[in-house]
Amino acid sequence: MGGSRAVTRGASRRRAANRCRSTSGDRQPCRCARGGAPSPPQPPAGPQPLLSVPLRLVGVIGRLYVVLESDRGLVLLDQHAAHERILFEQMLAQLEQGNAPSQRLLLAETVEVSARDAAFVRELLPTLTRLGVGLSEFGERTFLLEGLPPYVRVGDARQFVLELVDQLKAAGQEVNALRLGEQVVAKTVCRHAVKANDPLGPRELDQLVEDLRRCAMPYTCPHGRPTLIELNYRELEKKFGRAQ
Ligand SMILES: [Zn+2]
Repeated sequence: MGGSRAVTRGASRRRAANRCRSTSGDRQPCRCARGGAPSPPQPPAGPQPLLSVPLRLVGVIGRLYVVLESDRGLVLLDQHAAHERILFEQMLAQLEQGNAPSQRLLLAETVEVSARDAAFVRELLPTLTRLGVGLSEFGERTFLLEGLPPYVRVGDARQFVLELVDQLKAAGQEVNALRLGEQVVAKTVCRHAVKANDPLGPRELDQLVEDLRRCAMPYTCPHGRPTLIELNYRELEKKFGRAQ
């Protein structure tokens, strides 16, 4: 019964709002419908893609989720996923053009793998080199890691190479197709992106959003997780029990 009274009240408030609008003469939204609170902007009829509307930075929570505001409501961006997507596309673009930049490690490291894995790694050496991973043959089953892309930071270079081999093996036959091999390598390299877990300043965060806008597939990371979540005003109103 309380519910029905609320509905009636809502209906009369709507009528009041309509009256205000018709007498005011201009297109200013009436404020009395929400007890004086400004009425949130309504989403456009045909929603534009999230990254083609202006986004304003609000802050970062949990050192990972970037809080943004659009005219449609709240937007959350996963900093790690977004950065992975940007790096992934940059790496693939660099591959198209030639070699990716590589930075020499202070200390080269040797990595030993099984005989079967060694054959596998040997086949992929040209791809790894072009991606900026400076790995070369050092023995029958031993490889020397001398360089990494500048934006990659690995605590344990050996572990990094072994992980790369595991990922490539997991991709199985697909790796035989050169392009897919490149994609697996790029995805693994992205996981070690320097900025992925670092605190970023407002300018870097704005740049992150700008770089994401330029991506071909900006809404997911290379592993398929979403980079952005939108909670529009209509959904917020529903959650706060304001929706009629
Ligand atoms: Zn990912």
